[in-house]
Amino acid sequence: THSPDKPALHILLAAPRGFCAGVDRAIQIVEVALQKFGAPVYVRHEIVHNRFVVESLERKGAVFVKELDEVPDDRPVVFSAHGVPKAIPAEAQRRNMIYVDATCPLVSKVHREAERHHESGLRIVLIGHAGHPEVVGTMGQLPPGSVVLVETAEDAERLNPEDPHNLAFVTQTTLSVDDTAGIVEVLRRRFPDIAGPKKEDICYATTNRQGAVKAIAGRADAILVVGAPNSSNSVRLVEVAKVQGCTRAMLVQRAEQIDWSLLEGVATLGITAGASAPEVLVEEVIDALRGRYHVTIEEVVTATEAVTFKLPKVLAAD
Ligand code: SF4
Repeated sequence: THSPDKPALHILLAAPRGFCAGVDRAIQIVEVALQKFGAPVYVRHEIVHNRFVVESLERKGAVFVKELDEVPDDRPVVFSAHGVPKAIPAEAQRRNMIYVDATCPLVSKVHREAERHHESGLRIVLIGHAGHPEVVGTMGQLPPGSVVLVETAEDAERLNPEDPHNLAFVTQTTLSVDDTAGIVEVLRRRFPDIAGPKKEDICYATTNRQGAVKAIAGRADAILVVGAPNSSNSVRLVEVAKVQGCTRAMLVQRAEQIDWSLLEGVATLGITAGASAPEVLVEEVIDALRGRYHVTIEEVVTATEAVTFKLPKVLAAD
């Protein structure tokens, strides 16, 4: 199939890439809820940060809203994988609604950690990005004012808690492993008594995807990360590739977004995908590349994953 008019392109396909167990479960929850309750099923916030996923669920009868007050009392509502402040399910309960919580179990685990520290009288330092729904959800597990957000090592240096001996930290699950290690180091140096997890709360999927992109970054002339600009873990993959020296690393949502001029002179191209990006979009990108290049593919596997999560009980067959 070698056509002489096409230049050669060697693709390094990072593995693991794409969907994690939490995203897989969240999408399944909406699909099973649609089967069980019929359409429409409301979903508060993008179930996962990917337009393609959201639009395919919309075609099946899901209706995405920003706030719970947009949902009628008599229709089921699903809460997104990123987690929700406690006030949201409480309000759904007050209104006697059927709700299904698609919060990833690894995010719920962080919620419980924060609660446990709070109950033992510690003030919580949350390492994360302001405004991300997961951060909003984690902060919303505790009364206002009990959590302080730290985004950078500089923030950690400036932190001035009332009682430096009564602190605990938790983290967002989709942070940069290396940046977070730096922030934790500052916290542990300044506040030696601080309680927290051994390393951080970054999930297996985030860790593995960053490890895989690191493994290809040194060999790739450019890297495409399939993912959305509001997907924290996808944006981190671009950053990690750049830090590893692959300066031509970029995010693409769909094949049509590829900036071909940026691929000029590229002989080896790395490809990966964020945890909310479906594999069909990776295939779409590779197909577009096949249109312009004589493509060879090498999958670079740095970890294998066997994590799966059960669906919530409320969706069990009647
Ligand atoms: Fe869960 Fe991690 Fe996936 Fe987020 S990225 S949904 S925490 S497995």
